[in-house]
Amino acid sequence: MRRLIARLLVCLILGAVTTVGVAWFLAMYSVRWQEPVPVDVRGTDMSSVLRSIGRLHTWDHYPHYSDGRIKSFGGFYSTGTDTREYGWPALAMKSRVQMYFDERGVASGWDLPTGELVLRGFPTTRLPDWMGASTNDRLPIMPVFPAFAYNTLTFAAGWFVVLLAFGATRRAFRRQRGRCPQCAYNLRGDFTTGCPECGWRRVPDANEQ
Ligand SMILES: [Zn+2]
Repeated sequence: MRRLIARLLVCLILGAVTTVGVAWFLAMYSVRWQEPVPVDVRGTDMSSVLRSIGRLHTWDHYPHYSDGRIKSFGGFYSTGTDTREYGWPALAMKSRVQMYFDERGVASGWDLPTGELVLRGFPTTRLPDWMGASTNDRLPIMPVFPAFAYNTLTFAAGWFVVLLAFGATRRAFRRQRGRCPQCAYNLRGDFTTGCPECGWRRVPDANEQ
């Protein structure tokens, strides 16, 4: 029973790690499978949605005067919210960038509070070149619920099957070599008395009691 709980816990941790890994992989590479952009222009709002496998990018952007008043479309200053969700089978991780452009039209960068950096995630442009990651994307840090739990459980189930198959294969190999299937102690092919090392299939005999 304790072994089962420990095994389930290991599978859950592996499932969560896989969920994050898949989301980051998609953040780095899924832009290659991107669908074209339906740009939606309503008044001074300019919103766009980009979709690709395991990736949803929504961008909500409007130009404005430096004093905060909304400026007509095509204005120099702009603010916007850039939200990206990544993950498979569900979109499980999120990156949100609130853009503030200064007078020169340059977005503010690293001089941000920690909470904002966590919301933004890690820029893929900072990854080493050999990884070949898409530029102008972000490795998300924020989990999205319940999608994160859903992906974690899905991958945990997968890991459970993989570990089960691995364990069965290892036991079969040990048995074939005449060893204890549980601890690999060499029984020289004699499985009738069980294993003196770990107690596998050992019947407690009268002398020892
Ligand atoms: Zn044994």
